Amino acid sequence: MIVAKAWRGKRYAVLGLARSGAATVRALVAGGASVVAWDSDEAKREALADCVQEQWVDLDYVDVRFDSLDDLAGFDTLVVSPGVPLNTHPLAAVAREAGTAIIGDIELFAQARADLPPHKVVGITGTNGKSTTTALVHHILKTAGIPTLMGGNIGLPILEQEALAEGGVYVLELSSYQIDLTQTLDCDVAVLLNITPDHLDRYDGFEGYAASKARLFAMQSAGHDAIIGIGDAPSAAIARGLSARAEHLTKTAPGVCMFQGDWPALQGPHNAQNALAAIAVAKALGVSEVDIDRGLASFTGLPHRMQQIASYGGVAYVDDSKATNPESTAPALAAFERVHWIVGGRAKGDDLDACRPAFGHVVCAYTIGEAGPMFAEILHDSMPVENVGTLDAAVRSAAANAKPGDTVLLSPACASFDQFRDYEARGAAFRAAVELLA
Ligand code: ADP
Repeated sequence: MIVAKAWRGKRYAVLGLARSGAATVRALVAGGASVVAWDSDEAKREALADCVQEQWVDLDYVDVRFDSLDDLAGFDTLVVSPGVPLNTHPLAAVAREAGTAIIGDIELFAQARADLPPHKVVGITGTNGKSTTTALVHHILKTAGIPTLMGGNIGLPILEQEALAEGGVYVLELSSYQIDLTQTLDCDVAVLLNITPDHLDRYDGFEGYAASKARLFAMQSAGHDAIIGIGDAPSAAIARGLSARAEHLTKTAPGVCMFQGDWPALQGPHNAQNALAAIAVAKALGVSEVDIDRGLASFTGLPHRMQQIASYGGVAYVDDSKATNPESTAPALAAFERVHWIVGGRAKGDDLDACRPAFGHVVCAYTIGEAGPMFAEILHDSMPVENVGTLDAAVRSAAANAKPGDTVLLSPACASFDQFRDYEARGAAFRAAVELLA
């Protein structure tokens, strides 16, 4: 567990007790703080209470209470989960009025850094490719024999992990929500992959979303490294704003003849962007060319990101459930010649324009979920469409239509929450439906 001496004796209110919130409570308590915690989901409160009791039943300083937190009088700080919408949640307004600091677990990690053995921190943000790049940087460092941990948005709460020995590197995947809740994280290497419209319900428009990403660099000291993919105008503008950093600024953009043949899990132009960023990070950290090459070649990728899960009768079945917006679906459509495209869920916007350049690769689209009828309407001029409604029906229909050499691709361009718990459950349901075809 990672804890800061500075937390001892302070009073924290913690809102949101999913994975990172629960880890936050445990770390604060281990650090000698007193905590009042809340989640509107009773099951999450109970799970945390059981775990706190089991872990600290013998300690006399344990102080955790559950309370619905209408008032923040007497608290030093409000710690919220990135899932809590700061722009609309009433408690955020209460905290702002009371002058109570609002932070997240990454800020707590930043506060703990002074008590950790000497180390470096890499922070990776962007609309798409964060998890892939985070896992790739972590893999390259491990291959090079450098002690390293992944944390943050990748689903591994950082405070829950054991601190690294001297010389270690913490690789943090940071969503814009996490950056919004972080004030003092001075990354040794900060990375921005790209910025395209997403999550606009939580920001005052696109500008607010882009400004949130830019703060990752504003928190760095001047001599630290910034790596920015300049393939889109907002990211390029942020890079221009940092030109005074001179050799500590690396701008990346995939070249026309970039060779990715030796990197089996890093195919497609989007992965060229991710690989270039990871290479720049590794160089900034002093990893040798040989170790970088070994890491790129031996990386196996992450589940639910253009992952081939089966092949029956010459038809490949590819799970790209993590593609939750049209920008992340576009490279998957472009990567295969003849695609049976399963698309839909809870839409992030009202178009599929980002995918349009690859429409020629689609043999037939199978629309599902809330967005199904709208997408069928958008697509029917460009390709055959079946508005099948469910993932199971889509797999059955696509399998019946597909010919040897074709690809059945789940790349929904949508959030999953209308029909599934999350994108992982959606990917698992796809695999289960595909396995029934065997
Ligand atoms: P994130 O963690 O930012 O959501 P992931 O690495 O999990 O990103 O990838 C999410 C989806 O986005 C996958 O479907 C993948 O095919 C696509 N993707 C990955 N990298 C990029 C990129 N650099 N640009 C656009 N899309 C990408």
